[in-house]
Amino acid sequence: MKKKYSVPIIIKDLKWNYGDRNVLKNINLEFERNKFYTIIGPNGSGKTTLLKNISKILFPKKECVYINEIDLITMKNKTLAQNISYVPQNTMIDFEFSVMDVVLMGRNPYMGRFQSEREEDIEIAKKAMQMTNTWKLREKNINELSGGERQRVIVARALTQDTDIIILDEPISNLDIHHQIELLDTVKFLKKDITVIAVLHDLNLAAKYSDYLILTNNGEIVQKGSPREVLTKENIEKVYSIKVNMIEDPVTGSPHIIPMSTYFNR
Ligand code: ADP
Repeated sequence: MKKKYSVPIIIKDLKWNYGDRNVLKNINLEFERNKFYTIIGPNGSGKTTLLKNISKILFPKKECVYINEIDLITMKNKTLAQNISYVPQNTMIDFEFSVMDVVLMGRNPYMGRFQSEREEDIEIAKKAMQMTNTWKLREKNINELSGGERQRVIVARALTQDTDIIILDEPISNLDIHHQIELLDTVKFLKKDITVIAVLHDLNLAAKYSDYLILTNNGEIVQKGSPREVLTKENIEKVYSIKVNMIEDPVTGSPHIIPMSTYFNR
């Protein structure tokens, strides 16, 4: 039985440079268990770089990122994979794997070197595929799927990894509106007691699904808080350089943004 931490991710003074370009500037954040966080902000703000630092795709400096109280940089890859699953923006798979094989890769962190998957692993994978509506694709070649289908398969693999932290970089950008809602519902409601960190560009969906929004710009955090606190007309107009009207979502009461065209609304 895994120990549950109330604050599974702590980030202290995290910086990141690409060459001499300062992309993350002194980021301090805490992520609580069982909450849905969405990082928002214009292109180039450093959102993906932040996610990569948390998932050790990029290597942060010592004592900057803690996962379940362990410094990420000292964590073994297998332990990390039992704690965090990461769904990148674009997943290229070079080999001719079936969908089932790709999803079962999510069980690798729990298997010995030459061990093959057990009945239990297949059951976990099947459940994740049913949740993401990919079970019917299980015998197909991963490279024969549409971008949206492939994205759902990669999310199924992440769910199969059975971690308490799921990180999703623009998980719905390739999906039609039906699959967008289905995927967000799956991650938010079907998996219990996990921490989700997503990057989403759709601010209205972000407002509906997130407990907290983290608004970023130029490698800094502009504001972190509830959707109502963060998605103000002032914040959006300043950070995205557009004019907006704000209304309330009639069902959830969350803020709903209507961007103003510079042509229609002269
Ligand atoms: P976002 O996810 O908010 O769009 P990114 O984290 O992808 O932002 O990128 C932040 C900045 O870092 C951008 O200006 C981008 O061009 C730059 N950048 C991203 N990846 C690299 C890289 N591998 N090498 C150099 N610069 C990069």
